[in-house]
Amino acid sequence: MSETTTRDRIEADVERALGELTVEEKVLLLTGKDFWTTWPIERIGLRTMVVSDGPSGVRGEAWDERSPSLNLPSASALSASFDPDIARRYGAVAACEARRKGVDVVLGPTINLHRSPRGGRHFEAFSEDPVLTAELARTYVTGLQDNGVGATPKHYIANDSETERFTVDVQVPPRALHELYLRAFETAITESRAWLVMSSYNSIHGVTATEHDLLETPLKTDWDFDGVVISDWTAVRSLRSAEAEQDLVMPGPDGPWGDALVAAIRDGRIAEEVVDRKVRRILRLAVRVGALGDAGPAPLVHVEDGVAFSRTAAAEGMVLLENSGELPWRADALTRVAVIGNNAEHARTQGGGSATVLPERTVSPLEGLAAALPDVRIDYALGATNQTGLAGIPRERMTNPVTGGPGARVRFLDAAGAEIFAEDRLATELVWFGGDAPVAESKQVEVSFSFVPGRTERLDLGFAAAGHGRFYLDGELVIDELVEPEGDDLGAAFMAPPVRAVPVDLTEGTPVDVRFVYEQPARDDALLNALALNVGTQPSSVDEDQLIAEAVEAARAADVALVVVGTNSKVESEGFDRTDLRLPGRQDDLVRAVAAANPRTVVLINAGSPVLLPWRNDVAAVLVGWFGGQEFGNAVADVLLGVAEPGGRLPTTWAAEEEHVPVLDTAPTDGVLEYTEGIHIGYRAWLRSEEAPAYWFGHGLGYTDIALTDLVTPSYLIEGDTTEVAVTATNRGDRPGKQVALVFAERAGSAVERPVRWLVGFAPIRLEPGETKTVSIDVHAKLLGHWADGWKYELGDFTLRAGTTANDLPLTATLELQADS
Ligand code: BGC
Repeated sequence: MSETTTRDRIEADVERALGELTVEEKVLLLTGKDFWTTWPIERIGLRTMVVSDGPSGVRGEAWDERSPSLNLPSASALSASFDPDIARRYGAVAACEARRKGVDVVLGPTINLHRSPRGGRHFEAFSEDPVLTAELARTYVTGLQDNGVGATPKHYIANDSETERFTVDVQVPPRALHELYLRAFETAITESRAWLVMSSYNSIHGVTATEHDLLETPLKTDWDFDGVVISDWTAVRSLRSAEAEQDLVMPGPDGPWGDALVAAIRDGRIAEEVVDRKVRRILRLAVRVGALGDAGPAPLVHVEDGVAFSRTAAAEGMVLLENSGELPWRADALTRVAVIGNNAEHARTQGGGSATVLPERTVSPLEGLAAALPDVRIDYALGATNQTGLAGIPRERMTNPVTGGPGARVRFLDAAGAEIFAEDRLATELVWFGGDAPVAESKQVEVSFSFVPGRTERLDLGFAAAGHGRFYLDGELVIDELVEPEGDDLGAAFMAPPVRAVPVDLTEGTPVDVRFVYEQPARDDALLNALALNVGTQPSSVDEDQLIAEAVEAARAADVALVVVGTNSKVESEGFDRTDLRLPGRQDDLVRAVAAANPRTVVLINAGSPVLLPWRNDVAAVLVGWFGGQEFGNAVADVLLGVAEPGGRLPTTWAAEEEHVPVLDTAPTDGVLEYTEGIHIGYRAWLRSEEAPAYWFGHGLGYTDIALTDLVTPSYLIEGDTTEVAVTATNRGDRPGKQVALVFAERAGSAVERPVRWLVGFAPIRLEPGETKTVSIDVHAKLLGHWADGWKYELGDFTLRAGTTANDLPLTATLELQADS
């Protein structure tokens, strides 16, 4: 069917369905049915639509390990690939997950910018650069939607940090808004026709996003967005937002529209046509996902093995920051390897918050390396603690008292203590956020299991929850406390509840009966039917010097040492920003001590955003693994052993010293966060700074030597057009490899304020040894324009520069921008 016929058919179906609806039904459709679904209206053949977080995998309706999801590498790992095709496959794989889980819409990609490295959800967003973000968003959205699942670029707009995220008023200058923050949304909509956009919590210049004119212009007018503006969860606070271009209120079923909106239509305060416009968009989405009529969802056009893809994508995103010739390791030359660090064993494969998915299995670097080196002795040492909150009990170490199988029994009790619901779980990190459990109706929740320790050691055993907790070990009450919530971000309090635990001397193989009884406090918050409880362990009081000494011993006795350092859930998560960029705890001391003991020390960084690496010149190699997804450990082994190329380059500049970072403020003053830096974020700001960063945007080493040798551009480009520039690369080494070509523009003597240079195009290039290849890179004239109450073009010569980082651009050419006469 041609595109026009398809569009006509969709519109005809939409109009037909709209014509059959009463005012009440129309209004009903505009607020969710619950946390994750929309209302069905069977009479017109409309079924419920299911939306789900993402974006690095798809959680589905329930937050439940019994319904696991593929855990893809986080967005900063994806963007480090600088590869739109990887992003397209990533979207397609996410869509397959969505279809498998009965999900129609994925709530992603997150395309806010890395304005400051302190942003708490940095790991979930792509880059400090709008063009890189836009290109990856473009193909991610296409990959998802080609497979019949709606994409939801979020959060519109200027939601680039987390502090006071529900209320902050972001003052973003118009140029920065258009040239930076709106750019990727524009691309996702005008080029990939995203089916939804999520409006954010914050205000922009005093108006909350869900009531803002920006939903109309540029979104619905200039960009011709014909999809649904879905709110961030609880971001709609008024009936006024119904008069704005906000279309769908989430979650439901309650919310400020409902009866109040019906009444406003009945007495003429709001025209029915206003509601019709929104309903049309929701019905259009329903046709697109196959929820209206008999057509069903579109056939899947791109299917591949998600686990294998996750491993490939993780390696494609890994960034080799330093290498003194140490890597890749030759497997046959190793006899003994020391693997050190909390994150080597308990890797973070994803960031925290709504993006969380529950993978069936994750592979830690320790496991990945052990599997890849079956004949090599591997000695593990913790080295430094880096755990926050409780680690859940592994399913194979728990016995369910009712079934006798692995896992825990969870019972929901009413006020009289009678059981109203029970479930058998395979994990002890429990979240109910949607799903069947009667959270709101119950008074108590009881978790019980028998814990069979795998090691003889002293650990703290306890619970994490806000409310009244009673904790029993072998029948004895050891904690009985009313625990107050910490912090004032509902989401953060929910995701990381306070911990209470007691030290216990465990003996390998000797079971301990654990029972936790939780009593809900009276609540009236928006997350009424949601609950997060955790039962688990944390290291007991430890001697950190002793841990370092043990790690040093392990390193000294080994051929090589791998130290895995990283952030933790108190550092990088939704709901708060980072307070500094240091590695938590004693990890810097640990690296220094290990490197002093073994010159062949390689450091792997397990973080979703930049961290400071004060020892970076004193170790043999530094590799950034990001939050590498469920196959993280296998991909780490692939890269360390040279089975895969470290394919990533930094999508965001990394500082040497925190005080050099050009944009550090993420905390509003009196509720206002001013983007005083305007268009100068990331490398644009570093290029104006007196200080040099540790690693520029684009930095990353490969295992071979690929040089860019030639840049050819046409002599002119017409305003409004796109042209192609050609970059030639040669692999001078003896291994196949990858390089990323970056093309920047500069304008000497510009009449307007401009960045020193800015990215206008890029391409990943893969080459066999000795091969030379030329790639063409699209450059849009629009990227040479600037915003001054509309897009303006300064005609004349621009210098294009090609190279591999924002500060290493040996090739130049001139491109004249000409008027469209
Ligand atoms: C987050 C969104 C997410 C939503 C639903 C919000 O708190 O900001 O990104 O999609 O929750 O979980």
